Amino acid sequence: MTISAASGRVLATLNEDGSRRWIRPKPASGKWLIRRRAVAYALMAFYLAFPHLRWNGKPWMLLDLPQREFTFFGTTFLPTDTLLLMLLFVSVLIFIFLLTALFGRVWCGWACPQTVWMEFVFRPIERLVEGGVGASRTLDREKRHFAPRRLLKHAIYAVLAVILGNTFLAYFVGTDALLTWVTQSPLQHPTPFLVMAVVTLAVFLDFAWFREQTCLVACPYGRWQSALLDRQSVIVAYDSARGEPRGHGVGARPGLGDCVACNACVNTCPTGIDIRDGLQMECIHCTQCADACDDIMVKVGKPTGLIRYSSQDALAGRPPRFLRARTVLYPLAFTLFFGAFLVALATRSAADVTLLGPIGAPFTREGEGQVVNQVRLRIANRTGDAHRYTIAYIDEPGAQLIAPENPVLVAAGATITTSVFVVQGADRFVGGERRVRFRLSDGGEYSREFSWRLPGPSEAAAAAGSVP
Ligand code: SF4
Ligand code: SF4
Repeated sequence: MTISAASGRVLATLNEDGSRRWIRPKPASGKWLIRRRAVAYALMAFYLAFPHLRWNGKPWMLLDLPQREFTFFGTTFLPTDTLLLMLLFVSVLIFIFLLTALFGRVWCGWACPQTVWMEFVFRPIERLVEGGVGASRTLDREKRHFAPRRLLKHAIYAVLAVILGNTFLAYFVGTDALLTWVTQSPLQHPTPFLVMAVVTLAVFLDFAWFREQTCLVACPYGRWQSALLDRQSVIVAYDSARGEPRGHGVGARPGLGDCVACNACVNTCPTGIDIRDGLQMECIHCTQCADACDDIMVKVGKPTGLIRYSSQDALAGRPPRFLRARTVLYPLAFTLFFGAFLVALATRSAADVTLLGPIGAPFTREGEGQVVNQVRLRIANRTGDAHRYTIAYIDEPGAQLIAPENPVLVAAGATITTSVFVVQGADRFVGGERRVRFRLSDGGEYSREFSWRLPGPSEAAAAAGSVP
């Protein structure tokens, strides 16, 4: 974090007396804005459409937390896929490390939803409704937080927050459930409604009040960057060798650098910093200062690029070095983890079966010394077709398997829980338990054996010698 000696400010969003300093950046047009805007609009459309897209009848992305099932691009990961998810998560993390080592905070400036929605939707609405940056700053200065224009802006923000909050929820509950809920009274589904209301409120507060502080004080990624960047990483940087000593009247006063101290770069910065102070944690590498400065350079007849994409080494006159420890080790680690993920995914079983104990009593007794055990089977069909799964004993003479539904039909990609009942004599239990083996098969490629311990009457231990 930079402590500006000139201002005594320790945080860009705080005044010296500790009150909030509202950042109202002046828009800066230029080549980077055009590119960022195109990327931002594409990402916004993607975010809104993504939960509605289907792949093999499944959503492209569904994070079903109650069921602990995660679907990405039509592939569902179950709770038993922890290893797969861990490999995928580590791969993504390493990829982010690599991306940051190569291109700095390109994610923050170009693709993070916070930046995309804030800079390309919420701030433009603010400027439009409040009458421009100057008018917003006047409202701040005069503390007119309830001025009609500001209230209108907040009303529009609230509508947007509802849309974004509902879209966010769709990633977790799916669009079918969401469409049902939005057409019903909240009283019919109070819990999801409460979740939606909390998410909407969080979105509203984030974009209306917390804003750039999400990047400055809440987001952990900003704090990582000092460890993830090296002197060869691409950053948005001020060329101090060319710009300093800065001063007004360039050309008129020999000895001055190209920076005319116009402060356009500071006025446009959405995090309120001065890039001329050097690389700072608060800089999200959004390139707005580069566009603003290019505009000034054109006006004063100097070459553009005083603020540009560069690296700390390049600015110091050192040659680029593509091969360095992190650009070698990160790709190696990524290949290792992502390769393991792909192999594990390709060799994953066609069904995921979990045996569960009974609901209620561990076993029940029936007439003539018979013991009944309930065994529940949770069968997840991972394939794209419906399958019928047959449950059978393996070598269990004298025991009877009662399955209300056998074979069990499981639709493509669905998960069901069914029960079977094992009936056998009490004398077959040793030490209060007996281990049995099942086979589950779909008559095709899938066939798997399971061993399961059935609890039974402990008095049978006395008859252990008579049990086969
Ligand atoms: S210093 Fe420049 S690149 Fe960094 S956040 Fe501010 S405007 Fe964006
Ligand atoms: S916009 Fe460029 S010229 Fe103006 S103060 Fe910033 S670096 Fe200097």
